[in-house]
Amino acid sequence: MYYREIAGVKVSALGMGNMRLPTLDGQDKNIDRVKAQEIIDYAVSHGINYFDTAYRYHGGQSEYFIGEALKKYPRESFLLASKFPGHMMVKKEGGVVGFTGGLAGWPDNTVEGVFAEQLKKCQVDYFDFYLLHNVSEQSLAIYDDPELQVVEFVKKLKAEGKVRHLGFSSHASSAATIDDFLTRHEGVFDFVQIQLNYLDWKLQDARGKYAAITRHGVKVVVMEGVRGGRLASLPEEQMARLRALRPEDSAARWALRWLQCLPEVAVVLSGMTTLDQIKENVETFAAPAPLDQTEGALLTEVADSMLHWVPCTACRYCTEGCPMELNIPGIIAAYNGVKNGDFMSRYDPDRADSAMDPRRCVGCGACAAICPQHIDIPALMAEFAEMLQPPRR
Ligand code: SF4
Ligand code: SF4
Repeated sequence: MYYREIAGVKVSALGMGNMRLPTLDGQDKNIDRVKAQEIIDYAVSHGINYFDTAYRYHGGQSEYFIGEALKKYPRESFLLASKFPGHMMVKKEGGVVGFTGGLAGWPDNTVEGVFAEQLKKCQVDYFDFYLLHNVSEQSLAIYDDPELQVVEFVKKLKAEGKVRHLGFSSHASSAATIDDFLTRHEGVFDFVQIQLNYLDWKLQDARGKYAAITRHGVKVVVMEGVRGGRLASLPEEQMARLRALRPEDSAARWALRWLQCLPEVAVVLSGMTTLDQIKENVETFAAPAPLDQTEGALLTEVADSMLHWVPCTACRYCTEGCPMELNIPGIIAAYNGVKNGDFMSRYDPDRADSAMDPRRCVGCGACAAICPQHIDIPALMAEFAEMLQPPRR
């Protein structure tokens, strides 16, 4: 494992994301603790020291899990990052916040109360890194609220030693939103966590976001480096082009080596679900191996051929609120496949389980309201259903 720095702290170049842990029955909340613990133990024993979680991951269970999983290791041997869920909050009377989206129905709380609960869930008395979760055009109403004073609150936590370093994550549509937030809070944040990979470089202007962040002298932590696994399993046409140059390398390795070309990237988070994934990723981060010029040019061509994809990252934020319990990311993956002629012959909604049938969508829009990628999911479902006529009764 090689290492980078954030504000003088030595961080492993590969970080363990705790949002896609193995589950027992496909239910996001039911983490398979035995398998997940094996992955965490492998991470620790192979030099990964950066562990990322959030209040809402795995339906709130990720923080409980990681607290339990890391408990056996000395506190100073690992770096724990969690996130304040302002992006899923609505302000109520008297400094009280309620929750929206996937957290709708959770008991009202205060800003201070949420943080205290997070420390307790993770069984720690400080976080090494603490982030505002998803600072975007939609969440600024909470993060800028003059009564809630969220930024002042986290600065106070840092002054008290309850968090060591501050950052924020962002799925903002515009790089200017990130730039403006950093400008208004110059010197407060040591890092920003963004969705960054060779496809989003152009598709979601990750290039502009990276430039905006680094202009402020702030480090970048990468999420969705393989786009929720989509860049780990490319259509055969694209894969064949990569294989022609490096027959042994997987698509995931190409994506991760591309990230190693960016000097201000401190940590690449990967939500690793299996031991095989973490073993391969640990090998990729044994030493820096950035793409050379020929490889970089080829990957740019591959990315350009995929720019029309629907940009779902399989984060599953949308699935909790779907009244029809549809596997929305699964359906979008099938849609991308069908549109690109990749697995038309393999996708049959009449044979797949009903969660994979876009014709069951009732168009309520609950999913679109929460999607960090701003995908018009109801429209996609309607288009896909149309392609699969006749409708099911
Ligand atoms: S619009 Fe369709 S996919 Fe989205 S939450 Fe409603 S039923 Fe589910
Ligand atoms: S549709 Fe949006 S919210 Fe749902 S899994 Fe994909 S990226 Fe996440």
